[in-house]
Order: sequence, then structure tokens, then C-alpha cells
Amino acid sequence: MELYKTNSIKVYNSLSKSKEEFKPIHQGNVGLYVCGPTVYSNVHLGNVRTFMSFDMIYRYFLHLGYKVRYVRNITDAGHLTDDNAEDKISTKARLEKLEPMEIVQKYTVDFHEILQEFNFLSPSIEPTATGHIVEQIEAIKQMLENRLAYESMGSVYFDVLKYNEEGGDYGVLSKRNMDDVISNTRQLDGQSEKKNPQDFALWKKASPEHIMRWPSPWGVGFPGWHLECTVMSTKYLGETFDIHGGGMDLKFPHHECEIAQSKACNHHTNPVNYWLHTNMLTLNGQKMSKSTGNNILPREILSGKNDKLNKSFSASVVRFFCMQAHYRSILDFSSDALEASEKGYLKLMTAYSELKNIKTSDSSSINIEAWKQQCYDAMNDDFNTPILIAHLFEAVKFINQLKEENETISVAGLELLSSTMGVFVFDVLGLKNDSDSDISSRENKLSGVVEMLIKMRKNARENKDWALSDEIRDELLALGIQLKDGKDGTTFSVS
Ligand code: AMP
Ligand code: ZN
Repeated sequence: MELYKTNSIKVYNSLSKSKEEFKPIHQGNVGLYVCGPTVYSNVHLGNVRTFMSFDMIYRYFLHLGYKVRYVRNITDAGHLTDDNAEDKISTKARLEKLEPMEIVQKYTVDFHEILQEFNFLSPSIEPTATGHIVEQIEAIKQMLENRLAYESMGSVYFDVLKYNEEGGDYGVLSKRNMDDVISNTRQLDGQSEKKNPQDFALWKKASPEHIMRWPSPWGVGFPGWHLECTVMSTKYLGETFDIHGGGMDLKFPHHECEIAQSKACNHHTNPVNYWLHTNMLTLNGQKMSKSTGNNILPREILSGKNDKLNKSFSASVVRFFCMQAHYRSILDFSSDALEASEKGYLKLMTAYSELKNIKTSDSSSINIEAWKQQCYDAMNDDFNTPILIAHLFEAVKFINQLKEENETISVAGLELLSSTMGVFVFDVLGLKNDSDSDISSRENKLSGVVEMLIKMRKNARENKDWALSDEIRDELLALGIQLKDGKDGTTFSVS
């Protein structure tokens, strides 16, 4: 292994709230579990951002030569809004008048198509909650046997207080003490089934009209949401594994409950060594979310068909936009921010394409090795993609300077520069060179022509040549290209 690759990776562990050196359980191997989507509606860009952060982390470990088992589940049953509510998939099935499994199929296909569009690598295993009902029932039996769960009116609940009295640490991840937990859960408690309001459902009795139902020792019902991740991560990665990921909003209660369940099943064995949480993508300063409607869909960005957008953007530009922020920072979405990212992305790709035109000679004073090390250092510091991108732009500057001033670089230097850029831009950040594709180069040409006409129309208006200005606008409209005049100038959309 090359030197920079052996440098240790530091990851921010939400459990210890600090950066820690990453030490895998089995040398050279990484066990990674990430909570997948609940497939009851289309994924929005916020969901995509979280999965993209873990795709980048997965890619980096693979690049370093680790053997990674990456498990990302599909939640196709059991995701309740609270313990008294209906399963989200059942609710949607009723609304759309479809079988629950039709809902699951529809949105799983959509999820996969989107991830493919955005150049994601497939995980090693993509298990489903409904495919692991037997294992979930077994885990509940284990918790009942360990007296940390109890049955009540056909449902089974986790006994949070008892778990803590017996050495458990419910609250350890979200840093909540029991008083906080109780005051947060009390108002949700509409039923007297539970011993205490903070107890959570492991198994819920199905009412006669509930369509997703399975037989169990406690009657016909369905599993609670938190249990599937405990069961599937344990099954595929072991009682203790390396990394568990998800969005920050899953820390409580989902991940907190996962820890408690694992420990209740496995006699307090710590299930996860490093908890990694991604921060939220916001829109208008508010978290993007399915339920509030404050979101934008990935396909709307690719087509430009959303009022929040001035134009369409390619998947690579969106990916670059996400990678420009650290995965633990909030990122606010806007059309302007995407446009700025597009400029940066094009600069990076242009410089990379220019590498083939750079002249070489015997001597070079530039220390490419040191720059390469800086790229690795950035990634080794909790996957700091914005710093990595800053280093990639140093390379862009250098390439442009070589070109403009007709300078030369050594053959070895050029090779190192080119291979390192290739590794980080394509393999690690997962970008694609849009200008490589015919469609996008045609789109770029079309944009260029329209921008030129917009400029000509602006000149015409300044010269009070209204006839020409109107002619340009109307002719473009006849071709399906609509001009929009705004305070910051004229933009266009293609129908
Ligand atoms: P869900 O399907 O709602 O369980 O969400 C799937 C993943 O997307 C989870 O890891 C969430 O934490 C994450 N997520 C949800 N909303 C956002 C957001 N606005 N920004 C980033 N990640 C999000
Ligand atoms: Zn989960």
C-alpha cells in the first residue's frame, strides 16, 4: 500500500461526539450499515444527499483497498409515525388504492432509477424488512426472554425503564436523559397498553383493516420500524460491526432504539463502533421533508420543471453541489447555488480534459506528491470533500497556468497529476464528465446559442428596437424555448 493510503482515517463518531481514528474490527474489512428509504413515496433530494454521502464514503474505502460489506436496507413495512399510527406503506396503499407491495415496488424502482442516474454504486446487500419477519420475531422472543420487553394486548413493547435499571444506556446516542425522553413522549401516549410512555413498539397488533399482517406468537400483527435495522445489521454484519450511518434526524428515536434492542438481545454487547450522521439538506432554510411538502425531487432538477429552478441541471452538477459541503454541515438548496456549482464543475472538467494538451519536458519544480498527499489528508479527516475540492481547484489553477503560459511539466508529474485527479474526481466523488456525453454537449451548444440570442435581444431593447426584441422572443417561443425576464436578467426554459 502506498504511504498516504496507510495514514489513518479519522471519523466523527456521534456516540463519543468526537473524531476518532477508524480501526476496523477485521483488518482490511469494513462493515457498513446505512438506513435505507421507506418506500412509500419518491425520494426527495434530501434523501439523495444522505445516501450520496455514504456512497462517497463507500467509494473512498473501496479506493483505499478495503473489502467493504455495505448493507443498505429497504423499509417496506413497519415505519410508524408514532406508536399509535398506521404503517406509512399501508396508509399510502389505501390512498392510492393499490396493494402495499405495489406501493413498495413502485417506489423501490423509482429509488433505484434515481440512484443510477446519480451514479451511485450498488450496496453489497439491500435487505427488506418484509424479508426478515422471522428474524424480527426471533429477536422479540429473545428480548422477552431477557425480560426487557413485555406483551400487552397483542402488541409487544420494549421496556425502556427496566432496560436502564439493568445497566442499559437508553439516551446514550442522542444524549437525552430519561426526563427528556419522558417529557418528549408523554403527549404521544394515547393508549394505556404501554407500561410507560417512553416504551416503544417491537410488534403491533394488526387491526382487522390493517393490510400488512403476519402471524406471530402474539397474534396477527406487524413489526415496529426500529427492529428491522437491528435484525438485518446483526444478521449480515455481526453483533458488533464497524459503521452505522443515517441522517441526523434518525438519531432519535430510531438509532437510539436500535442500540437498546441490540443490547437487549445480545447481553449488552455494543452493536456499533462508529455512528456516522449526515446533516440535512434544507430548502428555504427548512429541512427538506416528504411530509411537509418542502422538497424538490431529483427528476425535477434534471428536467428543470419546478418553479424553484431557473433551468435544468445535470446529475453530476447536483452531485458536485452536494460534495462541496461537508457531510456534517447543513446545505441549503437553491437554483443560484446550483448554478454556481455548475460553473465550478465545468471548470474542473475542462481543466481535466486539458491535461492531454499539456506539454512535457524533463524538468519540473512542482511537487505533485505533496499535493496528492493533501488530497488524501482531506479525505482522511472525516471525509472532508470541500477541502478535497479546494485542492482539486489548486490543480485546475496549475493546469490553466501551464496552458496559458505554455509551460511544461515532467512526464511523471503529468501522469501523477492526471491519475490523482481521475481517482478523486471520478472514483471517490463519483462525478461523471458530462461533456463526454453527446446529449449534454448538444445541450451545452443549445444553451450557448440561446444565451447569445438573449444578449442580442438585450442590445435590441437598449437600442429601443422593440420589433427585433419581440421577434427573438416569439421565434424562440415557437421553438418551445420560453424567455423569462427577471430582476437579475433573462433566463430560459425549454418545454
Ligand atoms: P426516510 O425514507 O424518510 O427514512 O429517509 C431516508 C434517509 O434520508 C434517512 O437517512 C434520513 O435521515 C435522510 N433524510 C431525510 N430528510 C433529509 C434531508 N432533508 N436532508 C438530508 N437527509 C435527509
Ligand atoms: Zn434504520
